[in-house]
Amino acid sequence: MESARIVIIGAGAAGIAAATRLLQSGFENVLLLEAENRFGGRVHSIPFADNVVDLGAQWCHGEKGNVIYELVKDLDMVQPTSTFYDDYKCVRSNKEILSNAATDVLKSVASNLTMSHQPGLKDFEGSLGTYYTEVFWRNLPQTQAFDKTVACEFFDNYKKMLSSMDGADHLFEVSARGQLEYWECEGDQQLNWKGKGFRSLLRLLMQARKDDVADLGILDDRIRYNSRVQNIAWREVNGDIRIRLWNGELIEADHVICTVSLGVLKETHQQMFTPALPPAKCRPIDGLKLGTVDKFFMEFEEPFEQSDWPGFCFLWRDEDLLELRNSVNFWLEGVIGFFRVTCQPRLLQGWIIGSHARHMETLTQSEILNALQWLFEKFLTFEMPKPVKFLRTQWFSNPNFRGSYSFRSMYTEELRTGSADLAKPLTDERSGKPLLQFAGEATHTNYYSTVHGAVESGWREAKRLTDYYLGEVVANLEIG
Ligand SMILES: Cc1cc2nc3c(=O)[nH]c(=O)nc-3n(C[C@H](O)[C@H](O)[C@H](O)COP(=O)(O)OP(=O)(O)OC[C@H]3O[C@@H](n4cnc5c(N)ncnc54)[C@H](O)[C@@H]3O)c2cc1C
Repeated sequence: MESARIVIIGAGAAGIAAATRLLQSGFENVLLLEAENRFGGRVHSIPFADNVVDLGAQWCHGEKGNVIYELVKDLDMVQPTSTFYDDYKCVRSNKEILSNAATDVLKSVASNLTMSHQPGLKDFEGSLGTYYTEVFWRNLPQTQAFDKTVACEFFDNYKKMLSSMDGADHLFEVSARGQLEYWECEGDQQLNWKGKGFRSLLRLLMQARKDDVADLGILDDRIRYNSRVQNIAWREVNGDIRIRLWNGELIEADHVICTVSLGVLKETHQQMFTPALPPAKCRPIDGLKLGTVDKFFMEFEEPFEQSDWPGFCFLWRDEDLLELRNSVNFWLEGVIGFFRVTCQPRLLQGWIIGSHARHMETLTQSEILNALQWLFEKFLTFEMPKPVKFLRTQWFSNPNFRGSYSFRSMYTEELRTGSADLAKPLTDERSGKPLLQFAGEATHTNYYSTVHGAVESGWREAKRLTDYYLGEVVANLEIG
């Protein structure tokens, strides 16, 4: 264990969890290779406005069974988020604001769609979109004088919101049955990091000093930034696995734990691994999917004017949507809404998903701002001030991510594959020695798409190596 050379590709949540657990278990030769110039991956907290913002993961989802919550619950690091995402206003493209009474009924029917309320998912062969559509219209109260057009507009927006939770471009590509694989940890789903950002969790894992932002704790000198891996020759040659970086440098290892995102695997696996990955490993890479979820951050000079508004969502009337689709601003259809942010009184955070998000990523900041300004003018009865600072994310365009988080697609079902196949290590056939291991959110069977899933996957692969070496020790003792 002291001499085994372990190289971890990626210093996101999974890589950091694996590395810290290995070091704590007695391994000494642990190196993280990270393509970006920072650690954290899809956990990326940066200073912005009055505090920090999280460009990626933002909330600790749930308490019971959530390893992150278990780690931080007694350390005063997380707190509940206000009801921004429950009490938001619904505004139509003719500036009409839906009454609270109508919105409450629609939201209550919609929130009952989530899986804990839906045992019928188990036997449903189709997509989550088809399933939810049937259930939504079945459950909408018939007695109330409901404007079906408005209900339709609301549901269109709500489907986008659900897609953003699943990390899918739209719900019609998500497997309904596959959804049951995801376990929601009981408790608050939106615990925020008290203005310190999700990054504080990773710093806790590293045992970094709180008063020194540059300190990497037990990972000091073990992370190499700007080190993009190009190829891993994972079958040992003279006892070595060979890792080649993009600058041509070669690094030798006994074990590799690969934590790159599903998006990176999809794009690069054919060049990244020599020999090529076996079909059993390509299947989950092809079948599982990850869509694009992006954020906008707008900092205003003063606190958001409509201070009793927790946020607002855009409900498109058919005729306005048709017009929008024929304009250069067509991508605004993917914008879900804007919401307030805890510990950030002068900030609004917007969300955009799917192919529209990917198009947005190609535009300049001023093109985006102009379009958003147009959107506000179209929907809102009040004038939105010009932001003093603006930021948008580009999770798809960045070659080190190529998307946001994974889900069970319909094609995953077709291929009869899933995370368990992605998580299986490639081992030496004779000795059973793990050569190439896989960690990362997409490899978690039940907590995929989350940071707690990524952390557990890193620990899982660290344990695999500990078990392997302890097994070797026992075998040697028995021979002795
Ligand atoms: C917008 C957004 C919002 C989210 N919100 C939440 C949330 O609220 N709560 C939650 O729990 N989760 C959320 N998530 C999901 C969560 O961020 C991820 O599940 C988790 O951070 C993934 O960690 P990981 O270690 O598996 O992968 P990553 O964080 O992607 O780490 C992989 C690392 O590998 C590096 N890498 C890639 N290719 C190479 C290469 N060739 N060589 C070297 N290094 C490479 C990358 O730069 C990256 O640092 C969100 C994600 C996004 C994008």
